[in-house]
Amino acid sequence: MACHSSLKFVLLTAIKTKLKLTSSQKMLMSKHAGISRFTYNWGLATWKALYQSGYQPNHLMLKKFFNNEVKPVLTWIKEQGICQKITEFAFENLGKAFKNFFENRADYPKLKIKGRNDSFTINASGRPINLGGKRIKLPTIGWVSTYESLPHTTTTKLTISRTAGDWYISIAYEIEPEITKKEHDYVGVDLGIKTLATLSTGVIFVNPKALKKATKKLTRLQRQLARKVRGSNRYKKQKLRISKLHRRITNIRKDATHKATTFICKNHAVVALEDLNTSGMLKNHKLALSLSDANFYEFRRQVEYKVVRYGGTVVFVDRFYPSSKTCSNCGAIQEISLSERVYVCQKCQHTADRDLNASQNLEKYARQALPCLDVEG
Ligand SMILES: [Zn+2]
Repeated sequence: MACHSSLKFVLLTAIKTKLKLTSSQKMLMSKHAGISRFTYNWGLATWKALYQSGYQPNHLMLKKFFNNEVKPVLTWIKEQGICQKITEFAFENLGKAFKNFFENRADYPKLKIKGRNDSFTINASGRPINLGGKRIKLPTIGWVSTYESLPHTTTTKLTISRTAGDWYISIAYEIEPEITKKEHDYVGVDLGIKTLATLSTGVIFVNPKALKKATKKLTRLQRQLARKVRGSNRYKKQKLRISKLHRRITNIRKDATHKATTFICKNHAVVALEDLNTSGMLKNHKLALSLSDANFYEFRRQVEYKVVRYGGTVVFVDRFYPSSKTCSNCGAIQEISLSERVYVCQKCQHTADRDLNASQNLEKYARQALPCLDVEG
């Protein structure tokens, strides 16, 4: 595996999972989120006021002032069971928000609103926080439970947030890379609508049957919903059924994508993926539905982190590269409509499945873009 020197590195991965809380714990989480929001908004308002008076504020000086002059009089922040780290992270987040604004990556920071920005970050003053199983001991807050089992590892900080009434915990932690022996040096991956992915080696990942069935059912439920009286009990029940089915579809899809991307990244050193211009393609309305079905974005996201984990590389093929129109045998280019499933070259008579032909062109692109593997054989 030629051109990459063996670097020693750590991989970071993250998990976000739902917390199983008692009502008093939920109240405690709300309090933490409230203090975090208050601190952030105080910092933002003060920053603005100082700037308008001709000063050049930064989050560190605001934090110092807050800790020395403001926090001591706010007794409700110092209640028992409140982790004092939240205010520190609130200033850190404010600093990041301004940095993104100054570097033109984001708009001017906005005030956080209750119910919309309920989150806070804590740590254990640099000491590791142990994870593993369905219970986790948070600094100051104490034991909380999760529905899902957590990996046995440690973390240094974690974020707790509320979405649609439920509390979630997000944890970043280090993982060991598992460099695998690769079956193939190069692979082109064509992402499709009917087939999930076609590899240039001939391997095909089809969409699970359950997905088609569930999608059909979803269309039916949505049609039924349109006939119900808005706001009625039946309407609400139907809405709940639909949102449950949505979740199921997302899970089926994600599961199938995980299987495909793990196989691809474990067995191939260089993975060529089309850099899809999804926004342009979404203009075609009918296609938009199937596109979201095939979850291109999720596929890409998974490949990006899995190639790192298994010691490979991903090459994104320019979206103007005519992978579908080019003959993978002789390189001639011809038009091919969306409905044509077989590529028949007018020049050399080469015939191939449309997606396979495209994936083989993607592989060729990667061989040219990253040729070092060929040299070493
Ligand atoms: Zn040809």
